[in-house]
Amino acid sequence: MSTQQLPTKRQHVLDAMKTAHQTLQSVNEGANASYIPYLASVPSNLFGIALAFTDGEILEVGDTRYDFAMESISKVFTLACVLEEMDKETFKSKIGSNASSEPFNSVIDLELHDEHPYNPFDNAGAIATVGLIGAASPEERWNKIIGTYNRFAGRELTVNDAVYRSESDTNAHNRGISWLLKSSGSLQVDPDHACDIYTRQCSVAITCRDLAIMGGTLANSGIHPVTGKRVIKEENVPPILAEMMMNGMYENTGNWLYSAGLPGKSGVGGGILAIVPGICALAAFAPPLDVHGNSVRGQKAGIFLSEILGWNLFKK
Ligand code: GLN
Repeated sequence: MSTQQLPTKRQHVLDAMKTAHQTLQSVNEGANASYIPYLASVPSNLFGIALAFTDGEILEVGDTRYDFAMESISKVFTLACVLEEMDKETFKSKIGSNASSEPFNSVIDLELHDEHPYNPFDNAGAIATVGLIGAASPEERWNKIIGTYNRFAGRELTVNDAVYRSESDTNAHNRGISWLLKSSGSLQVDPDHACDIYTRQCSVAITCRDLAIMGGTLANSGIHPVTGKRVIKEENVPPILAEMMMNGMYENTGNWLYSAGLPGKSGVGGGILAIVPGICALAAFAPPLDVHGNSVRGQKAGIFLSEILGWNLFKK
């Protein structure tokens, strides 16, 4: 579903978004994720780009109102949830903050580091991060996570049950990771519950517009760009952006950073989020992925816009 854009004072930005959309729409490299059967069924030609500026303006081009699964982009917002409760040094000592050169679902980093997670965006670190949320029950833990996501989105998000079922039926590998974490003392909660909550967070449905708005808070020092409410502490934004910078696109993070110069995060649902601190959040959605699990058109759109609009942080 495409949307009508209201008149904007940022016409040059909207023009650049339209150019990106038109020129990249025909790129047909990559393929939908298929290890989660539902994701293979999402139309591959969907393509949306949305920007949320720190003053609350939203710009949208293409399929920005289509619901898709957050998948690994959820890891950014669960990290935000935990950092509200735990200081960043404690978090770093428990989960880590270094880049990995392994695929997102690898167990090699666990093996190499005494079964200790390496960063919050690899699946192992993300599942361990879920376990750090202080809660007396899985329901309370889940409510804290979805409550955080809702505050970032400025609306109530829901789990896409079809994605959740599809992923729950096929997540034996992630359950295995959870039990490895348990065996090394890196997970203090029931491994199956932690994995289930992780699977639920990955199945939350958002639109490209939602994603831009969610990122807008990270571009705006923790204050929601539309509601003006504080969502997270200002001091928690830099460590989140640092994690995105280091590992947001998995083994392709270096290539992405080399060209876009922005902290980013991908999900195998086809979403991409990039943060331009103090200016805006950039969200793109296009299901076909590169071999590392990052949206091909989404990355290209981010790189194009960063270049043409002068947003590369290393050029400042
Ligand atoms: N739910 C997915 C998984 O655990 C998320 C992976 C991703 O988006 N990179 O495999």
